[in-house]
Amino acid sequence: MNEKKCNGYESMYTFLSEDDFLKHLENCEECKAEHERMQKVSSLIQEAKPYIIEKRNRAKVLKAACAIFIIFFSTLSIPLYTVGTHMYEDVMASSMTAEEMGLPVDEYGFLYIN
Ligand SMILES: [Zn+2]
Repeated sequence: MNEKKCNGYESMYTFLSEDDFLKHLENCEECKAEHERMQKVSSLIQEAKPYIIEKRNRAKVLKAACAIFIIFFSTLSIPLYTVGTHMYEDVMASSMTAEEMGLPVDEYGFLYIN
């Protein structure tokens, strides 16, 4: 029953059920060796996972920071610039000149001080 022909580790892993595959490993030195190698690789991946996740998160944080930076400058900076311009115009329009305030001015409209 367990004398199945081996089609190689990958195809056995793919086409056999988990139980049949484990049984096959007991009867097939080639697949057993391959399986042990794969276990080592997967344990290496498990060990590397936190580092990979951390790296990914850092990339995410960087991307988020870039997005915030872009959003801030593409949306906020324009209204702020507009508000700034309006404020400057408002100040210029509402501020009276020295002459309008009844102060002595010279011929150029500047405040004249004795
Ligand atoms: Zn095999």
